[in-house]
Amino acid sequence: MLFSALVAGACGAHGQFLQKVTDPVDYVNPLMGSQSTPDLSSGNTYPSIALPWGMNFWTPQTGRNGDGWQYTYTDHKIKGFKQTHQPSPWMNDYGEFSLMPVNGLKFTENARASWFSHQTEVVKPYYYSVYLADADVTTELTPTERAVRFRFTFPKTDSAYVVVDAYNKASYIRILPGENKIIGYTTRNSGGVAANFKNYFVIVFDKPFTSLHSWKDSTLEDSVELTNKHVGAIVGFSADHHGTVINARVASSFISFEQAELNLKEIGSDNFETVEAKGRAVWNKTLSRVAVEGGTIDQVRTFYSSLYRMLFFPMRIYEKDATGQIVHYSPYNGTVQPGYMFQGTGFWDTFRALYPFLNLVYPDINKEMQEGLVNDYKEGGWLPEWSNPGYRSVMVGNNSASVVADAWLKGIRGYDIQTLYQALLKDANAAGPIPAVGREGVEYYNTLGYVPYDVHINENAARTLEYAYDDFSIYRLGKALGRPAEELKLYATRSQNYRNLFDSEHKLMRGKNKDGSFQSPFNPFKWGDAFTEGNSWHYTWGVFHDIQGLIDLMGGKKAFVKMLDSVFIMPPTFDDSYYGEVIHEIREMQIAGMGQYAHGNQPIQHMLYLYNYAGEPWKCQYWVRQAMSRLYKATPDGYCGDEDNGQTSAWYVFSALGFYPVCPGTDQYVLGTPLFRKTVLHLENGKTFVISAPNNSADNIYVQNALLNGKPYSKNWITHSVMQQGGEFKLTMGAAPNKAKGVSPEDYPYSFSTDKERPGGIK
Ligand code: CA
Repeated sequence: MLFSALVAGACGAHGQFLQKVTDPVDYVNPLMGSQSTPDLSSGNTYPSIALPWGMNFWTPQTGRNGDGWQYTYTDHKIKGFKQTHQPSPWMNDYGEFSLMPVNGLKFTENARASWFSHQTEVVKPYYYSVYLADADVTTELTPTERAVRFRFTFPKTDSAYVVVDAYNKASYIRILPGENKIIGYTTRNSGGVAANFKNYFVIVFDKPFTSLHSWKDSTLEDSVELTNKHVGAIVGFSADHHGTVINARVASSFISFEQAELNLKEIGSDNFETVEAKGRAVWNKTLSRVAVEGGTIDQVRTFYSSLYRMLFFPMRIYEKDATGQIVHYSPYNGTVQPGYMFQGTGFWDTFRALYPFLNLVYPDINKEMQEGLVNDYKEGGWLPEWSNPGYRSVMVGNNSASVVADAWLKGIRGYDIQTLYQALLKDANAAGPIPAVGREGVEYYNTLGYVPYDVHINENAARTLEYAYDDFSIYRLGKALGRPAEELKLYATRSQNYRNLFDSEHKLMRGKNKDGSFQSPFNPFKWGDAFTEGNSWHYTWGVFHDIQGLIDLMGGKKAFVKMLDSVFIMPPTFDDSYYGEVIHEIREMQIAGMGQYAHGNQPIQHMLYLYNYAGEPWKCQYWVRQAMSRLYKATPDGYCGDEDNGQTSAWYVFSALGFYPVCPGTDQYVLGTPLFRKTVLHLENGKTFVISAPNNSADNIYVQNALLNGKPYSKNWITHSVMQQGGEFKLTMGAAPNKAKGVSPEDYPYSFSTDKERPGGIK
């Protein structure tokens, strides 16, 4: 199917060249990143068989029940087909349950496990199929947003069974033989939910049961209804000929069994092929918003596999009731509430590029997400910084400010921005019920201008730097909303707090004690401690909104560029004493062969673009192309660290377009070097924006000159609002840098320090 979809052009030294891509879903490899372990992440992903932003994802499960590494490419056995909502193995899952066909009354996770081969596995975003050798059963599944269709093909056997596993944290199962139905609930979660949390499921088979059992732990039971810590069901079917097909329709709800039945209507009377065809069409339509041409087949595969990863989290957890109203189970108070709800992302990761990408290409879904944030605040009292679902205490920062501000400033409308703004003000000025909500250390930050190193608040320098950027986000949004001048001045002033941590001796950010002295001894290669999952060399660049201010602190452009260059020249030295072990992010930096450049984690991911602020954009172009070609592949080991809910993929996708949102909350994307000869953005407003680079190639990586809508364009950035009007950005590429382009200060991207509209008197 794949190769018939291609219109192949000339085969060059760099692989098959694709002039046109008709069905982008055929280039997606959902296994990209699945060859990961806790020691070394190649993405820490699992194959999500689901619709974009669906409520239920399905994955084959090779790991133990409860293991965050639920599908590992190097594993040999499948233990079940699992409904999952897991954003990251580190956060683990909630509301999960599984189905598994077996040969015989084998129901524990080890007894029912079957050998499989990747050679008999078909993995598409909308379809999964695998041959389970031990049971001699082929399992296929194809999802809708809140339901899934299974098709089990059995051999001729007198022991054809399907196991249902409701997991082990108080579960319930009931077998309804008259309706060929099994219902149940799982309460399993990883924290953050109200006490009454349940995921109700309904499973309807198309054949009668020839035998039925429930089970608890490792004991078979005869009752048709069972509740205990860990329960399930195992039902038998007649398989009187080779190729006996058993179909199952499955849906779930966080609200009730009745709602799960309603959700099952998403399948309606559609047979397997129809559900599959509809899923394929949804994926093709969604992926086709960004159409690329003129790249190698490997580049196209990496591009669409990365774009696929960006279309899951935060996931819908809202449902449609019997009257068609949007409702959701609130993880905050355990009640059913009207309106949207999305869960399962960490803003520390995704504020950077994932949300800006939604604002550019998929604003409608982010409008729903913003409405979901309003509901988070109304029901829980705070904005989440990491939800899975409900508030989870992990990572640092108050980056919900960026997520809220960027959506509004990029033109999304139709939701209650006033309530969200009030939420930002509250969260910016109070410590929350858990450290990762609101601002830990806020009393110090608001008085001293930084969170001190010596007051028992961990990762304090990282907090300070992120709060300063978050304050910039609030300032920008407040300005757009016409807030009072004094309020704007307050947040604009606080946005400069990054200056308090700059150590001019080392030209680096450094933890600072309460008395104003820097923490000592200072090891710029020490991970964690004053920083979060990174070192000073990674966090020093975290002044997204005021790179010119950072340049001035470092002593000017030359010194700044020297510091940037140093990142790649230094060896990958590290001090892991804060963690007491080499955390996987450190290992990923060490093995990447790019010195201290740690693209496998988020803090430094914007750094390559900063050369544009100092008049040396060709160095950005060189390193961006290096990172794209060396750190991403559409293979199971294809990411250079945790993918993290679309963020690391969004870096690639933006970079392949030729620009990156260094500072969400401004209108600008900073320019790099496009990967393809042509990229077409089909915007939701009906306009089309084309990025073309006709003589682009693996050698011609440097931008020589640019035309925006036919007129010469000299800036090192392009604006969101210009793209929204449609048009063409045309680049001439070359094998050598054009060192006369992008060198004038008036061509540099936005910095607060050079913003003529900033409130007066702020240095
Ligand atoms: Ca990460």
